[in-house]
Amino acid sequence: MKKTKSTCPYCGVGCGVIVESQGAQITGVHGDPDHPANFGRLCNKGSTLALTASAPITLHSRLLTPKLHGQPVSWDTALDTAAERFANTISEHGPDAVGFYISGQLLTEDYYVLNKLAKGLIGTNNVDTNSRLCMSSAVAGYKATLGADAPPCSYEDLDHAGTVFIAGSNMAWAHPVLFRRLEDARRANAQMKVIVVDPRRTETAASADLHLPILSGTDVALFHGILHLLMWEGLTDTAFIKNHTHGFEALRDRVRDFTPKEVARLCGITDDAVVQAARWFGQGPTLSLYCQGLNQSRAGTAKNAALINLHLATGQIGKVGAGPFSLTGQPNAMGGREVGGLANLLSAHRDLADPAHRAEVAALWGVPDVPSKPGKTAVEMFQAAADGEIKALWIACTNPAQGMPDQSAVRRALQRAEFVVLQEAFAHTATAPIAHLLLPASSWGEKESTVTNSERRISRVRAAVPAPGSARHDWAIAVDFAQRLERRLRPGQPSLFAYDTPESIWNEHRESTRGRDLDITGLSYAMLESCGPQQWPLPSGADQGQARLYADAVFATNDGRARFFDAAYVPVAEPRDARFPLSLNTGRLRDQWHGMSRSGTLGRLFGHAPEPSVDMTRQDMARLKLVDGDLVRVRSRRGAVVLPARASEELLPAQVFVAMHWGSEFVSGVDDNGQALSGVNALTTGAFCPQSKQPELKHAAVKLEPAALPWRLLAAAWLPADQVHAVRQALQTSLAQFAYASLVPFGQTRDGLLLRAAAAIAPPVGVVQAIEAALGLALDDTTLLRYADPARGQRRTLRLSKHSSGDTRVEAFVLAGETSAEPWLRALLQEEQPAQAFATQLLRPGAVPLSAQAMRPARRQVCNCLDVDERTINTQLAGTPVGPAEQRLAGLQQALKCGTQCGSCLPELRRLVQASAVAA
Ligand code: SF4
Repeated sequence: MKKTKSTCPYCGVGCGVIVESQGAQITGVHGDPDHPANFGRLCNKGSTLALTASAPITLHSRLLTPKLHGQPVSWDTALDTAAERFANTISEHGPDAVGFYISGQLLTEDYYVLNKLAKGLIGTNNVDTNSRLCMSSAVAGYKATLGADAPPCSYEDLDHAGTVFIAGSNMAWAHPVLFRRLEDARRANAQMKVIVVDPRRTETAASADLHLPILSGTDVALFHGILHLLMWEGLTDTAFIKNHTHGFEALRDRVRDFTPKEVARLCGITDDAVVQAARWFGQGPTLSLYCQGLNQSRAGTAKNAALINLHLATGQIGKVGAGPFSLTGQPNAMGGREVGGLANLLSAHRDLADPAHRAEVAALWGVPDVPSKPGKTAVEMFQAAADGEIKALWIACTNPAQGMPDQSAVRRALQRAEFVVLQEAFAHTATAPIAHLLLPASSWGEKESTVTNSERRISRVRAAVPAPGSARHDWAIAVDFAQRLERRLRPGQPSLFAYDTPESIWNEHRESTRGRDLDITGLSYAMLESCGPQQWPLPSGADQGQARLYADAVFATNDGRARFFDAAYVPVAEPRDARFPLSLNTGRLRDQWHGMSRSGTLGRLFGHAPEPSVDMTRQDMARLKLVDGDLVRVRSRRGAVVLPARASEELLPAQVFVAMHWGSEFVSGVDDNGQALSGVNALTTGAFCPQSKQPELKHAAVKLEPAALPWRLLAAAWLPADQVHAVRQALQTSLAQFAYASLVPFGQTRDGLLLRAAAAIAPPVGVVQAIEAALGLALDDTTLLRYADPARGQRRTLRLSKHSSGDTRVEAFVLAGETSAEPWLRALLQEEQPAQAFATQLLRPGAVPLSAQAMRPARRQVCNCLDVDERTINTQLAGTPVGPAEQRLAGLQQALKCGTQCGSCLPELRRLVQASAVAA
């Protein structure tokens, strides 16, 4: 067995992993005990990497060969065609007629080449990335206040903080390993205070000493109110303000109006809570952790900067345990920022707007100049394509047909663009069918290069196995394309892309950082090999990176002083009104990642959140006469989706929540006009922050309408692992037949698929028969149990099998027309319970077996690693004597082992322990 050290490809915590492999197969993944980001820990996503990498469904869903208009072609044909199309577009319409939409999942070296290709070779700044949807407000916030896009803190600051101020981050789910570290720090320091600012009572918020459930988008008002109080209570650091900052006076005048009462009114919280937050913040040392709740906003820069203002006003920056610390959503958004891979940036944190910076980069690249005109940012780029201005699009390692806001505009753009190239590892993303040219890319476990995590730590990503088929590394695809294009655009000249390894690219990137705030001229691949991951800056002569920035209070501005950012409070772009009276919030699920192209291949990662839903309070459900599972149409000004309603204890009245992951690969439908619906981003708005251009994915005004879809279908089946992908493909074609349909994997150790669909009237019987056939319930199979009532449009088909234990088990079923048997039939199948006792009743329409009460109902999984469900946990807790919460938790873990492996479920276990104490 081979062991390879690498880095987790999911979130910005950047955990080190050890990959075990045999031949071309990844067989195991463990946390790297030597990696300073995680010291051996992994969350549920990281610890299932081997399964997602090697599952047959993953292998079957990989792109293995280039495809032009759906037909396999050679790499030469693919890249020559792309070079020809791009060269022609550039010569006919100019360089700004092409655009590159790339990804924070790319590695630094991939990013570097694609950025140089656009800005250096083609001469357009139309290169932007899905990091625009993730971190561009953090970039703009840091630059506006501290002078450079440099998170000043380290993870170790958690161990020393007195107050941890978490704003707009459900880090218990989004950055779980870091949250474990926070839990450790709290245990070690009983005096530590944790404040969470979030409209939702998330797992993170529920664990806090103080939760401020502010109304969506009111963060700036809250931060101004805290500054008002810090001044009032004498908790500001006047010497620090005087000696190391500019602009305090204007901000002081502005926040005068943000009294506790006014802030309470604007934010929908109590003034006491604002006072308490300000006092704890002022006591310090205070570490602020923040993420998409601040970033994904039309006031994203103002929110980031208003929080940094608090640190500058109290001098809580550059000190142990203190500072503003943005949590990076993506694995390598930081690396992308470092190479300038955004439409308004240049290499090594240089600015496009600065002629001297452009000249430096042009000299480094060996080109006459770098264009000064800012490129199109993500939303602008797709708008320009929809308007016909951008004619050729190159998309790498991202899925805009799922992840971008305002999907109808994005779909228009992809349809109108004359040539769309998609460089991607997976064949099943929503963007793939729309692209003209598909280029198969290598994926995690196969790639070599570097990434940078949230604390500025550069780690190696190493290949454990070869890429499948003819897939190539992203940097190699970009280099090959660039060389073919430069032969057309600047024939006879030496290549700008003479790279033969990722290290040769990285060395050029390293040189670009000389003298910059992120100087890494003292670092090398060899040093990363011998000394492990390193934080930047690490200039020539240094023997290690810098854990904390601005310890000398000298900031990255011309005069070394930080700037207060005098931001007006502006409400959300689309306030609720009489027509759209609800606030839609979006966010992450615990066990899924982005558009689920990787995590969505594994049934066990759906155990915690098995199906899409729109969540709302019980009061709102009662007001709308809804019960759990009722289908509702969620409508915004841009589109509508149908989703099952679900009651949630996390929300405030008039708020609804839909997880960000659900796209047309998993949930679909058509609206009243026959228009296809395309996941949660059919609803979201492309309105963006004027400085960062980051769209407001965290808020849209919506309304709920009843979805009168009485004809229902539910199908579920266990499938051979190597057939799941093909069955999923076959079922996918059926989804468009329904006003609502969802298709999700399930299964802890086996592979299953669950299809749910609804329609206003019964579809033609052939539609149901096609679903039955796809699930192995063929019409001519006489071993199946069947019931059909054509007059009512009802069918039931069932396959039972003999289990090795001698029991009869349900292997597959389709309930069409009415699905009242769902609760018990689904439990029989998914939990593999003996079915012989119910066999005679399984086909009776509307029947519930007499002994159904004795059956276990479908369960809600809490601990994914050990497969422990909520009911088992509650039963165990009910039998445990009342006592201190930590003791009860330890007893629970000892008895059921839940939460003893990756720990992702620990926040929920704590909540259940707490709830059981209250109930007792
Ligand atoms: Fe990967 Fe989880 Fe670590 Fe994030 S916290 S890097 S998802 S293992």
